[in-house]
Amino acid sequence: MRLADKVALITGAGRGIGRAIAEGYTREGARVAIADLDLDTARSTAAELSTGGGEVMAVGMDVTDEAAVDAGVRQVAEAWGRIDILVANAGIQHIESVDRLSLENWRKVVAVHLDGAFLVTRACLQRMYADGQGGCVLYMGSVHSKLASPLKAPYVAAKHALLGLCRSVAREGADHGVRANVICPGFVRTPLVEKQIPEQARELGISEESVIRDVMLKDTVDGEFTTLEDVSQLAVDLAAFPSAALTGQSVVVSHGWYMQ
Ligand code: NAD
Repeated sequence: MRLADKVALITGAGRGIGRAIAEGYTREGARVAIADLDLDTARSTAAELSTGGGEVMAVGMDVTDEAAVDAGVRQVAEAWGRIDILVANAGIQHIESVDRLSLENWRKVVAVHLDGAFLVTRACLQRMYADGQGGCVLYMGSVHSKLASPLKAPYVAAKHALLGLCRSVAREGADHGVRANVICPGFVRTPLVEKQIPEQARELGISEESVIRDVMLKDTVDGEFTTLEDVSQLAVDLAAFPSAALTGQSVVVSHGWYMQ
């Protein structure tokens, strides 16, 4: 039990990568708050994980809503007395070229990834600093924190910006025992990715098979998708790491796509 007695809050944990991390954390003994825009999904995920023996709660939270974030973090801290681990994971995608992109769609994507990560970070840091027991902040970056693909400008820009937020939190958090790191997955077959396969096929004028083989997995070493388990395992390892030797870093988990 590598995370026994820890309290974790994970945004966007109703499904996909966030849910997989929640499963990994409960297996390692943490109490986990499943925060999601979609409260029904968060509730059913929480119910399923608690059936498996985990101590889990569902929190309705739009990460772009300052008041909702502050209230959600307060709810978790009051229920369980502390917050040790934050995983800022909630995310959306929008497929369009820069020349046709509306300011509204730009802002929508950046708001969820970047403003959302800032708001949950601030609320959790206030709690971690006040408790004086340190903590761990993990950002869900992407290989797109390191490089660009076409048709994803707001996503790529926001994922790059998370590196800067992480490094700032690593610097400031050190005095309080708080570490911050970024997880950078390659493509994982979640609803976010399933949705963009036909969208990219349409935009690029190629087949869906070609999007997978020639676009998404082209630069991996083995043509394989990264799995939910791969990302969840890394999130456990980073959260359980015992010292500030590992802070301010970004770890790519991608079958070799982008070697740093
Ligand atoms: P997903 O669409 O399966 O899940 C995203 C979750 O975030 C959903 O439950 C959704 O309700 C929630 N969400 C969306 N907007 C929200 C908001 N405003 N407030 C709170 N919750 C919100 O996506 P996923 O693939 O699991 O992606 C999770 C994270 O991983 C994202 O940050 C994404 O950019 C990142 N990522 C995904 C991949 C991939 O290939 N799937 C690769 C690299 C990084």
